[in-house]
This record gives sequence, C-alpha cells and structure tokens, in this order.
Amino acid sequence: MVRIAVIDYDLCRPDKCNLECIKFCPINRSGSKAIELSKSKDGKPIIYELVCVGCGICVKKCPYKAITVTNLPDEIERRLIHRYGVNSFKLYGLPTPISGRVLGIVGKNGIGKTTAVKILSGELIPNLGNLDVTPSWEPVLKFYRGSEMLQYLSKLVNKKLRVVHKIQHVDLIRKYVKGFVKDIIVRVDEKGIANEVRKYVNLDSCWDSSVATLSGGELQKFAIAAALLRDADTFLFDEPSSYLDVYERLMVSRAIREFTKNKYVIIVEHDLTILDYISDYVSVVYGDPGVFGIFSKVYSVGSGVNNFLIGYLPSENMRIRAEPIVFDRFGREVVGKSEGEFLSWPNLRKVLDGFELSVKAGEVRKGEVLGIVGPNAIGKTTFIKLLAGELEPDEGYLTTNMLRVSHKPQYVKTELFKWVSVEEAFKELCRSSQLACSDWFQNDVIKRLNLHKLFLRGINELSGGELQKFAIAVALASDADIYLLDEPSAFIDVDERLTVCKAIKKVVEVRKAVAFVVDHDLTVIDNIADRVIVFNGVPGVFGNALSPANLKHGMNVFLKDLDITFRRDRRTGRPRINKPYSYLDRYQKSIGEYFYESPVEEAEE
Ligand code: ADP
Ligand code: ADP
Ligand code: SF4
Repeated sequence: MVRIAVIDYDLCRPDKCNLECIKFCPINRSGSKAIELSKSKDGKPIIYELVCVGCGICVKKCPYKAITVTNLPDEIERRLIHRYGVNSFKLYGLPTPISGRVLGIVGKNGIGKTTAVKILSGELIPNLGNLDVTPSWEPVLKFYRGSEMLQYLSKLVNKKLRVVHKIQHVDLIRKYVKGFVKDIIVRVDEKGIANEVRKYVNLDSCWDSSVATLSGGELQKFAIAAALLRDADTFLFDEPSSYLDVYERLMVSRAIREFTKNKYVIIVEHDLTILDYISDYVSVVYGDPGVFGIFSKVYSVGSGVNNFLIGYLPSENMRIRAEPIVFDRFGREVVGKSEGEFLSWPNLRKVLDGFELSVKAGEVRKGEVLGIVGPNAIGKTTFIKLLAGELEPDEGYLTTNMLRVSHKPQYVKTELFKWVSVEEAFKELCRSSQLACSDWFQNDVIKRLNLHKLFLRGINELSGGELQKFAIAVALASDADIYLLDEPSAFIDVDERLTVCKAIKKVVEVRKAVAFVVDHDLTVIDNIADRVIVFNGVPGVFGNALSPANLKHGMNVFLKDLDITFRRDRRTGRPRINKPYSYLDRYQKSIGEYFYESPVEEAEE
C-alpha cells in the first residue's frame, strides 16, 4: 500500500485555524511530526507521506476540511502518470486514443480529465510523480514501452501529430481572441470547409459579431467550428455541450463526427446522451476528486456508459460507486400524484418588447416535476413568471394568489445572494425550514454535492461549478410552492446531476410543491420529469408552450422535431439516441415511436 496525503491549498487557511493539523499531529519515534509549515508553500503546511502513519487526526482537526489521507494498492501506484506537486492531486493511467475513432471520457469533476487531455495534447509533460527533476518525454516513452500508447505519444513527441484542443472554459476566449467571428473563421480555415462548418454548427446568428460580444453558447459553437477548420490529426474537445441547447448539442455532435473522420478524437462530456451519441469508445475515470484519479481501460461506448452507471468496471474488477444508477424503463404516466391539482392555467398570451409567447392550457399536480424542453430564448422563464404571478398575461386569466417561487436562474452570479459565506447561508435557511435542517438534506444534498467542504468559504470565492451546486442547494432549501430550476445540470458532473434529480423529487414530494426543471441534458429530463412541457417557435421572436404531456407523448413530439429516435438501454434503462438510418431509427420513425422502449433491443457491445 502507498499512502497519499493531499492538501487542498485553496481551502487551507493557516492564518485562521490555529494550525490545528500541526498541533494535533502525533510526534513519532524519531521525535518529529509528519506535518509542518513549508516556506515553499507560502507558509502553508506539507505532509511527509513516508513519515505519516495515517492516523487521520489532521483530517478530522482541520476546520477547513483541506486534508485527505488515503491508501492505494502498489499496483495502482505503479501506474502513476502525473502529480502536480507535493501533497497534490495524482493521476494514474491515461486513455489511449484510437485512430479513426471517437473516444469519450466520463468521470466526476476534479478527477483528472483535463489533466489527461493536456498531456495528450502535448501541453503538459507528465512527471511520473518525480517532483525533483524537470519533466521530459523520454522517461514517459520508456514508461509506455510495449503498449499501444507508445505509438501515439511517439508521434506526439516527434511533432508528427498536429493537435487542436477545444478548451473547457470557452468564456476565456473573449479575453484572448480579438476580432469578428467571420474574419477569424475564414482565417483559420485550413481545409477550405468554412461554409460547410458554418452551416453544420449554425454560426449565422453571430457571423457578423465581434468575439467580445458573444454569449456562452455562441462562444462554444465558435470554438468548436474553429477547431474543426484546422488541418489537425488529433482533436480534443473538453465539454463541447456546455451552454448549448439540445438542438445545438446535436448539431455540434454531428459536425464533430463529420469533420474529424480518420483522426484521433477525444471528447470529455457530462451529458450522457451526447457522450453516448458521439463516441465509439469510453474510458471511465474514477477515484476521489481533488485527490487522485484513475483511468479505466477503454470500453465500447454502450458498455462503458453502463459500467459507469452501474458503478462496476468488469475488466478492472473495480466497484466505483456504492449504488447503481438505473432509469425507469418504461414511460411514467401521471399516477400517484393524485393529491390534487396544484395549479391550472387557460390558454395565455404575453407580448414582451418584440417577443410573443403563447401558452396552451394545462395543469400541474402537487408533488409533480414538470420537465421543460426547448431551445433557449423561447419563453420558458417568461412562462414561469406568468404562473407565479410575477407577470400579468395579455390574454387569458390566472386566478392564482401570489405563489412563493424559489428560482435557480440559468446564469448564477454571486450578487444574487445576500450572505457572505456558505455556512451563513445554510444556517439561515435552516432556521426557516425544517427540511433544510434534516439529516436527509445534510447527507443527501449538502454532503453528496461536497458543499460541506466549502462551508467556511466566501460565496465570492466559489468556482463556477461550486457556485452552481450552492445555488441549487439554496433553491431547494428555501420554503416555496414552486421550484424553478433553470439548467441545474450546467457545470456539474453526471453523479452530481443525478443527485440533484433525486433531491428535487424529494423536496417537491415532502413539501407538496411543484417543480419546473428546464434542462438540455435529456438524460436528466428522462430521470426527473413526471411529465414534460415542450416549447417550440423561433428563439427571440415567438414561442409556443404546449400543454403538459406524459413523458412518452411529450418527448415523442420533441424528438420528432429534432428528427432523432431514442431507444432504451437493456441493462440500465437509460435513453440512447439511435444511429441515424439504423434499422431501429428507420423502424421507430415508420411507426411514429420516437421515444422509449425499442421493439428490438440490440445486443450489448
Ligand atoms: P477535471 O478535468 O476532471 O475536472 P482536472 O484535471 O482539471 O480535473 O484537475 C484534477 C485535479 O488536479 C483537481 O483537483 C485540480 O485542482 C488539480 N489541478 C489541476 N491543475 C493543477 C495545477 N496546475 N496545480 C495543482 N493542481 C492542479
Ligand atoms: P428562455 O427562458 O426560454 O431562455 P425567456 O423567457 O427568458 O426565454 O425569454 C424569451 C425572450 O423574451 C427572449 O428573447 C428574451 O430576450 C425576451 N425577454 C425576456 N424578458 C424580457 C423583458 N422583460 N422585456 C423584453 N424582452 C424580454
Ligand atoms: Fe489549518 Fe487545515 Fe491548513 Fe492545517 S490544513 S493549516 S488545520 S487549514
């Protein structure tokens, strides 16, 4: 066994903690402690792993929950590829790219996916855990001698591979890339396919815009298009679906497959429907986020995603999650939500300065979760505001008293919150709501989302993903009649998405409230929605909200519009997009069944 001691230096606050970790670390036989303050770490502590006895006292004593101490078997340690520094994250193994195939990577946030992508792009030379010398490729090539990876890395090191990397944080592009979209796209078009790519990715709405003014979704499409135009051998896409609605996710997936044929392609993605659609193979990364990550062998896409959900990797004989995630296999009709109507509405119309929303009559029952699907800027938020009494309809009449709405907006900003620290927020919410104080909320929401580690942090210190999780937990902890969660899945990983789904269902059930969940991840909608409201129209011009329909009927209408068909996976019940023109795709279209169980389930790959 090898001991790993990791200190999260972002959390560590030696000026505020009385140095509890050092104070309580037991003195060993040679009269020293395993932990001491280090000049090289700006006066923060370091732990000597060879001296540490693994007593766990520092882990418990640290008020900022900055320390993790764990043991790993020697055979895993032998696969160590990179360590960022003393007491930092360790990465074991790498996914081997396959020429002419799309390799998907799935795993929690902070588990080493971006680190691996940086190594495979040549941006980061791995140090194999040796922190004493400047890293070089020679020992890495030696490390991989006799493996398939050697071929890829040799070409990379010998500059025989040209690599493009679509980075995860596309918002950074605004800072570094100056100019107009059309000029840049034409300039980077090395293969003479700018017009085709422009059409596939649909850049029309921002073609004449300056990069500085692009929205998140436009930046994402611009970055993907710019990558596809390069005459490269390896294409690395880190989270290509962020900020995009379902239509756009499918468009960019098709574009990536179309314009990267016969190349090495690697995709990191948390939207399982998209990951499944776009990839040929999958590697699962598991471990402890922020502490260590281990890359699994490469599985065929169907098996890989299923193994990830079931939580067991057969080739490694490794359990990676205590409970499997299994989806309901068949359409959930509106049964069991019979405690009575919560709210109903007639046909409504609302005009907002150049935008018109028409809503078909409908109703929602107590304890029900309604999924909302449709493009961005189609009137989803406007609809909720009408129901909640925040806006008056121009046509139609709503007899609701003002309902209490807890709203997690699409874009979460720190200014939205009146509290200074995470702890302060939950203390106050706990005083006003029993549910927020319950063991269930503390264990199944706060701890599962790892928010307990952030308690002493200021809200303005949280990263994008942390802020999103915090905002979701605050929205659910607030006592309300209507929960409106606009894109809860943005910036969070698959495990967290499914934790959030479970929490939303429980909150509306216990409070006899209702939730409207807008999301572009169809795995999330399938998991959470009792029924769905489909929005269609022309974004920014007019929107139509159809009446709530059961999942099967609603998704059928939605998928028909998208021209894709879904089947159910045999092992996990998860929805999967059929390959265009495959037997099932053609068959399901011919009988008008765009969603749900396939009449013939294909064999597991
Ligand atoms: P993922 O892409 O799966 O979210 P990353 O590869 O970005 O994960 O990061 C894995 C871990 O490595 C995280 O805990 C992160 O904080 C840490 N890390 C990333 N970059 C650095 C760095 N330059 N120095 C120290 N730690 C880092
Ligand atoms: P979604 O929630 O589907 O993204 P919204 O309901 O937020 O869509 O907005 C629909 C359209 O109405 C958008 O084009 C938006 O710019 C416009 N809009 C929203 N609120 C207002 C307002 N108060 N005044 C004018 N236009 C608005
Ligand atoms: Fe203080 Fe924890 Fe940092 Fe130790 S690890 S110095 S106890 S904050």
